[in-house]
Amino acid sequence: MFGSQLTIQQRMAQRGVSRREFLKFCSAVAATLALPKAMAPQVVYALEQAARRPPVVWLEFQDCAGDTESFLRASRPTAADVILDTISLDYHETVMAPSGKQAERSLRSTVDAGGHIVVVEGSIPTKDGGVYCTIAGRTALDILADATRKAVAVIAVGSCATFGGLPKVTPNPTGAVGVMDLVKHIPVVNLSGCPMNVVNFTALVVHYLTFGTFPALDRLNRPLFAHGQIIHNNCERRAHFDAGEFVLAWGDEGHRKGWCLYKMGCKGPVATFNCPSVRWNDGVNWPIGAGHPCIACAAPDFFEREAYAVVDIHETNPPAFYPSVEKPAEPISAGGAATLGAVGGLIVGAGIAAAVATARGSGKAPAESAE
Ligand code: SF4
Repeated sequence: MFGSQLTIQQRMAQRGVSRREFLKFCSAVAATLALPKAMAPQVVYALEQAARRPPVVWLEFQDCAGDTESFLRASRPTAADVILDTISLDYHETVMAPSGKQAERSLRSTVDAGGHIVVVEGSIPTKDGGVYCTIAGRTALDILADATRKAVAVIAVGSCATFGGLPKVTPNPTGAVGVMDLVKHIPVVNLSGCPMNVVNFTALVVHYLTFGTFPALDRLNRPLFAHGQIIHNNCERRAHFDAGEFVLAWGDEGHRKGWCLYKMGCKGPVATFNCPSVRWNDGVNWPIGAGHPCIACAAPDFFEREAYAVVDIHETNPPAFYPSVEKPAEPISAGGAATLGAVGGLIVGAGIAAAVATARGSGKAPAESAE
């Protein structure tokens, strides 16, 4: 299905990627995918096979090219070379060398051959027949329908292609929608975020090459390896949250000391993403690490949310009734300890009972699902 003569490893070797770096790349991808350590050799084996680069057609519609920028900044472990070796990028208006009719021919031949993956960046306007985004005289609606006709899957990258993003903000003058609102006949995988993280893009492609399928997705079609955990649970400032140490104003003492940004509107307690582990810019840093609250950029309609409004906590871990670590220890008698233990047991029991009752009453899990 994939038309290449060299194995991915051989192509990497041609670009000066050593065997050691190749193995490190495979381990890093396996770790991003949250695969058991024992499965890393399977990733190595898959990438060593010949003719396994999926042809990719990358379409840009109502976007800012931020995801293309993210894609081109791939540098872990060995710069853009690595990602350009794992896929055959047959068409990408922003970065391809050909232009005009030559570029259109390239698109045509890949789309007609079929078996390709379509990457979509940007939302698709649907109002007035889709006239608000046209390329070479064709609407984005038409181009998307044509490009996905014989494709095996779509990877929607960034907030706009996944959930409509900025163009969809009220009053949504162009009737912008995300890809999954239009494409129903093949799988649509959403790599949301503003922009998407190229580490997750690479992991997704490698998973496809290794297992022939895309990884498990959440209810919003986002890969669980990237969205299985709320940010709050893996945040480096979490100890400050648990200690009740919060930034209360930009530049205050807490901000300078790296305390928790919850009271500055951090969405980490309700947002899922693997930013704390994969980070950005070659793993250098991420927004919370740089002192800015998470804005939940991978959640639907995040552009319409108040960036600095404090969110409700749905998951408390450890439970909220744990004493602050700053509370001075008080000596207690044996009798007092027994009493406290009994009271604590009652509180824990009541808490669990209340949570179960709430869940039964509402038909929902005790903790509202995060985005
Ligand atoms: S509220 Fe935000 S900054 Fe604070 S621990 Fe949670 S994710 Fe980190």
